[in-house]
Amino acid sequence: MTSPKDLESLQRELTSLAKRQGDLEDVVLEVMERREATQERVRELTERVDAIQTKVDDVTARRDAAHAEIDAEVATVNKERELTVADIPEALVTLYDRIRTKQGGIGAARLYQRRCEGCRLELDITELNDVRTAAADTVVRCENCSRILVRTPDSGL
Ligand SMILES: [Zn+2]
Repeated sequence: MTSPKDLESLQRELTSLAKRQGDLEDVVLEVMERREATQERVRELTERVDAIQTKVDDVTARRDAAHAEIDAEVATVNKERELTVADIPEALVTLYDRIRTKQGGIGAARLYQRRCEGCRLELDITELNDVRTAAADTVVRCENCSRILVRTPDSGL
């Protein structure tokens, strides 16, 4: 037998449970909305990552192509150098290489309009006279940077 008091109590409990269920359904809806928004954000970010990866791949391919081009050019220049060096006295090549190592890769420079194109300094009168009077096969050097000076008709001598 159920007393009216018990029924009343059960009725209150049912009402309370119904409200609780409604509250929980609201929470579930909110969580689902947040999940959808999060999934949308994940999709956007994934697309951006893919786009960036495509750019990285493109740049990497271009870099690799440039490396290959540079390697081929280095091989060509080295071959040309070998051929050129074969015609130059060994002592001069040794001197050139020594200066080149000391002077950041440039061992000889053109003397252009009285200026050393290695260090960009203009030779003074005494230096110019020394260069002018030196025999054509004499190795002349810049007093400032020590590089071998290459005389041409434009040397300003
Ligand atoms: Zn110089």
